[in-house]
Amino acid sequence: MQVPFLSFAPQHQPIREEILEAVGRVYDSQWYVLGQSVRDFEAAYAKFSGAGYCVGVANGLDALHLSLVALGIGAGDEVIVPSNTYIATWLAVSYVGAVPVPVEPSPITYNLDPRLIEAAITPRTRAIMPVHLYGQACEMRAIMEIAQRHQLLVIEDNAQAQGATAHGQLTGSFGAANGTSFYPGKNLGALGDAGAVTTNDEGVAQKLRVLRNYGSQQKYYNEVVGYNSRLDELQAAVLSVKLGYLPEWTRQRQQVAAWYDTHLRGIEGLQLPVAALGSTHVYHLYVVRTARRDALQEHLTAAGIGTLIHYPVPPHQQQAYAHMNIRKGAFPIAEELAATSLSLPMWPGMTEEQVVQVAEAVRSYFD
Ligand SMILES: *Cc1c(COP(=O)(O)O)cnc(C)c1O
Repeated sequence: MQVPFLSFAPQHQPIREEILEAVGRVYDSQWYVLGQSVRDFEAAYAKFSGAGYCVGVANGLDALHLSLVALGIGAGDEVIVPSNTYIATWLAVSYVGAVPVPVEPSPITYNLDPRLIEAAITPRTRAIMPVHLYGQACEMRAIMEIAQRHQLLVIEDNAQAQGATAHGQLTGSFGAANGTSFYPGKNLGALGDAGAVTTNDEGVAQKLRVLRNYGSQQKYYNEVVGYNSRLDELQAAVLSVKLGYLPEWTRQRQQVAAWYDTHLRGIEGLQLPVAALGSTHVYHLYVVRTARRDALQEHLTAAGIGTLIHYPVPPHQQQAYAHMNIRKGAFPIAEELAATSLSLPMWPGMTEEQVVQVAEAVRSYFD
């Protein structure tokens, strides 16, 4: 029996009628951009995130980019980013003309290490962008305290951790503006591209509503050089339906992770995910680490098991950032994570039988 890396079937099949009904309502409404479905989803997602406001945008990268624009970060500024993240975090900083300043993660949680942040702060530093990587909340209490002490803004990249908490507070509710993604494979996924910013600041929310819609509040009157980055009605309607199921899907992801923990325990040379004290993990991905990563991946592929590497090349070693002239070995933890990490199959509704099959294939490699 094959085990794919990801299957949408257990999520999407039971709600097929409900989703198609929501799509039908938008179809019949004859209103397709910035209407009631977007407003309803924004209200529901703000509530879900424990944030005052939510502004829907076209995708997660735009959510991060427009957050930086709305907060006035630009040329000459530096923004602290993790050395291991999806490249979107860095790109958003580059788009506004600021410089991404990488800081290494904890080798245990893979999230930005608060103990290393202060050494990277300079007079030009304006903000810290923690990424709740793989679904685990960063150590937000420590990060917020550092930000406060140095008068820095915090912009969470919450693309992978919708519904996670740090010290009981939801991700996406800490920073001045926080971006999330509803790319189909994310924990809350649209049927295409979509994203949102969450914030507790009404002024920031209002700026974002103007920025996403051509810099305009009144049609054909443009106050600022804005963007076209609107969440569309169809995606918003789909997301509103799916949001209702997200808590249950999160519990299912956590159950799959618990099964993996049980069935993979005690394999020498295989490091399992660890949730930090005070943080919850919503397992966007279940990432294991081993020095023999490439061979393990080949073994699993041959056994019919899908895996992926998140991420094979850290941003500072991408050709896109060659101009920064960061030497190899400058960020050894990020480089080691890139060489040793492997994401195992993970989706809500994955069965214990499937988890056991993956675990046995992993074990047979190490035996
Ligand atoms: C997916 C993702 C993004 C970007 O989201 P898109 O919707 O694909 O633009 C940003 N940051 C992280 C950490 C992500 O995983």
